Amino acid sequence: ARRPYSSIFRAAELRVEHSPHPKPKPPPEHLKFGQAFTDHMLTIEWSRADGWGPPHIRPFQDLRLHPASSALHYAVELFEGMKAFRGADDKIRLFRPELNMERMGRSAQRVCLPPFDPVELLECIRALVRLEQDWVPRSEAASLYIRPTYIGTEPSLGVAPPGRALLFVILCPVGPYFPGGHFSPVGLLADPDHVRAWPGGAGNCKLGGNYGPTIALQQQAQAMGCQQVLWLYGPQQLLTEVGTMNLFIFWHREDGELELVTPPLDGLILPGVIRQSLLDMAREWGEFAVREEPLPMETVLEALQGGRLKEMFGTGTACVVCPVGGVQYKGQWFPIPTMENGPELAQRFLRALSDIQYGRTPSDWAQPL
Ligand code: PMP
Repeated sequence: ARRPYSSIFRAAELRVEHSPHPKPKPPPEHLKFGQAFTDHMLTIEWSRADGWGPPHIRPFQDLRLHPASSALHYAVELFEGMKAFRGADDKIRLFRPELNMERMGRSAQRVCLPPFDPVELLECIRALVRLEQDWVPRSEAASLYIRPTYIGTEPSLGVAPPGRALLFVILCPVGPYFPGGHFSPVGLLADPDHVRAWPGGAGNCKLGGNYGPTIALQQQAQAMGCQQVLWLYGPQQLLTEVGTMNLFIFWHREDGELELVTPPLDGLILPGVIRQSLLDMAREWGEFAVREEPLPMETVLEALQGGRLKEMFGTGTACVVCPVGGVQYKGQWFPIPTMENGPELAQRFLRALSDIQYGRTPSDWAQPL
């Protein structure tokens, strides 16, 4: 008998199948990002005919996909990245996870994947992390990375909204981004010939299709001794993002005003959870101006040459903040004095945010499981 059409899935209907073969847990200091996976995964299926099926937690396993699945051909695919942190009090916390759920909903809309209830999905994710709690490293330098993924599984080659879809969540324990806790600055390759996103495009959504095409330039950056790509856009060569991080500059403006500035949410950048958190925090401190404004390369180089640029850093879930030590642009290396300046502000953000994530500072942003 066919089950009735279900327009939403509910965490209360979660079915759990335990893995008969739990794996040994690797020591966090030897973890390479995204290579070790936990024992279970969450899967939820949707079809146009039946709507959402019940959420399942099952042993971590390969997927079976029709070779015509739209995710494989037309990148009808999106993902999220968030983390669970274990504090010294042994409590596990998620950091502003509702922002990831919202962003995931917006990404879904962009590729015509059916909507879902963000509260129910978050509840299912909590259940998965609770089941896998032993996988959350006992270290205030490590964490459990959560990768929600949503793919079109429509088994036909028409370029059209998928009639079938699969939402799944997998988990990876991850070690410290900066081993030993010491900031190491990254060098950036800024190449005006490459563009990551454009107005009216989909760069503000976390779609797989935005990432595959960036790998070649990332590889080129590494071959040139840089660690990341500084993504530029348009005739003004606006600085938009750093690899898979948002970009911040702390400087004195031409009129001398001390300011933290990051590019605006104009469609060219991903609305990062850490970006939003830095803006919220800095505005609450009220110690310097905080603005979301376009950053033309020429303006940045002028500030640099005038000795007004104090710190440049990337922000994201992986590292929280990552200092920039210099930019390779049009065959020239421009050193950035981020480290020479502390980096006072970057370090303060890192401390303040990790204190919240690991429960050392109580905050609504850190939600116990
Ligand atoms: N920009 C891009 C392109 C990204 O992939 C990410 C990582 N999600 C970020 C910025 C940072 O976002 P968040 O702070 O939510 O990790």
